[in-house]
Amino acid sequence: MTIVLDGKKLSLESEKDFSSRVKKIHLNTNSIPILATILVGNDPASNTYVKMKGNACKRIGMDSLKIELEEKTTTDELREKIIELNNNDDVHGILLQHPVPDHIDERSCFDAIDIRKDVDGVTSLGFGRMSMQERAFGSCTPFGIMRLLKEYKIDIEGKSAVVVGRSPILGKPMAMMLLNENATVTICHSKTQKLSEKVSEADIIVGAVGIPKFIKGEWIKDGAVVIDAGYHPEKCGDIDLENIIPRCSAYTPVPGGVGPMTINTLIMQTLQSCENYLELD
Ligand code: NAP
Repeated sequence: MTIVLDGKKLSLESEKDFSSRVKKIHLNTNSIPILATILVGNDPASNTYVKMKGNACKRIGMDSLKIELEEKTTTDELREKIIELNNNDDVHGILLQHPVPDHIDERSCFDAIDIRKDVDGVTSLGFGRMSMQERAFGSCTPFGIMRLLKEYKIDIEGKSAVVVGRSPILGKPMAMMLLNENATVTICHSKTQKLSEKVSEADIIVGAVGIPKFIKGEWIKDGAVVIDAGYHPEKCGDIDLENIIPRCSAYTPVPGGVGPMTINTLIMQTLQSCENYLELD
């Protein structure tokens, strides 16, 4: 029987635990975990994502500090704002919503985030530490996927995993996380040749391409675990799911699979950061 990797269910269940941890922090220290969200410019999708993250904070009793900066903000101005938040003891996590306008050096702004507050797992240092299996917050989408795989006891060790996409916030950290769990990992990208052949060898396939239904059901072998990180306005992901669901062993639905886990992981890591700061963990 095909297992549905239900991110919505897991995220709702874990919110109960998060709420009680927030209550405990408040009771013991009178503090409340705070996530600072930075939105630069007026991209409607980014605006929606930031709102969803603020709402998730509210649901579990955390606060969010919403910072909205004009489209014309420079790299230096954005870095200064991040440094101000690094130095603000009331803020436990910093989210810089991706993507920022083209004229901004996004990497240098991500890397200005204090590693202790990098709850979205976007800094180069955090990526390096995670890759070396040192303590660091994981990039939220791939780490959310790892949490789902763990929850449903999906075997990773020794499996052949193919990640299609190599972005710094998704494909690359996903590949490192799977490698750290002893999968044999292939990373594919826009210059990969014979992509369908590579995908057909995967026991675990992760679609992180950004093109609706780009990965075809017929490329995927029977019994594979299918993870679709994509989300498009047509309410579909990067994988042609309809044509694989009956034949795969497990899959993430779109919506309701990877998306809720991303936000849930951001909230979890902000809470963890607050507990680290207060030395409660
Ligand atoms: P991205 O930065 O645009 O990266 C896309 C990747 O796909 C790149 O590595 C690119 O290769 C590769 N690619 C593009 N065309 C390809 C082709 N024809 N064949 C093989 N590979 C190809 O996107 P992203 O930020 O990683 O996001 C990927 C998807 O995940 C999107 O659908 C996005 O909406 C979704 N996403 C979801 C969440 C969530 O919370 N659920 C969060 C983040 C992203 P090159 O490197 O060679 O250009």
